[in-house]
Amino acid sequence: MNVLLIEDEIELSDGIVHLLKKSKFNVDAVYDGEQGYLSGLSDRYDVIVLDIMLPKMNGFEVLKKLREEKVTTPIIVLSALGQTSDKVRGLDLGADDYLAKPFQPEELIARIKALLRRKTDVINEDILTIGDLTFNASSYELICNNKSIKVSLKESEILKYFLARPNFVVTKDELIIKVWGYDSDAEYNNIEVYISFLRKKLQFIGSTVSISTVRGAGYRLEE
Ligand code: CA
Repeated sequence: MNVLLIEDEIELSDGIVHLLKKSKFNVDAVYDGEQGYLSGLSDRYDVIVLDIMLPKMNGFEVLKKLREEKVTTPIIVLSALGQTSDKVRGLDLGADDYLAKPFQPEELIARIKALLRRKTDVINEDILTIGDLTFNASSYELICNNKSIKVSLKESEILKYFLARPNFVVTKDELIIKVWGYDSDAEYNNIEVYISFLRKKLQFIGSTVSISTVRGAGYRLEE
């Protein structure tokens, strides 16, 4: 999961980065509004954490411009102002959540996780397809031509995650967080085992879709 942190107070920024990394997030920290806006345009972030009082361009402007550019990435606004009017203004401009300073860093992490859960809930279709492969998420069946095979609950969750982002690299950390949960102690070899099950099942039904290994990065579902 990738987080963009736009915060000019170095000490606070470092603290948040440290905590996010501990929770297995990738974080990019930038220190002014202009850089924040430019970085925010990229669609590689799952969440943006945005301070209001920033050099070069304030957070409200950054928020407004990102939404004008149709960037839909969830945004949590941080503000020292902490007044109701600022909160309303932030939410009005398209923020998804608001946190008043000073806050406990754990509170921010909890808000980020809540936003991510909301985001993934949206991808919840029962029939998913790619190439010659169909996955029925309600019957846990992988289907190709006339052949089909059942998958387990975990395999199903892994598949759904891959099918939502075909041809994109999915890291092992992402899979741990999304499938096993933030607080799990699942390890890379747990994932490797499930990936090998899935590969065997894809082969069994004769699909041209496969899960390839991207060395040093993770996996990719491809036709
Ligand atoms: Ca600031």
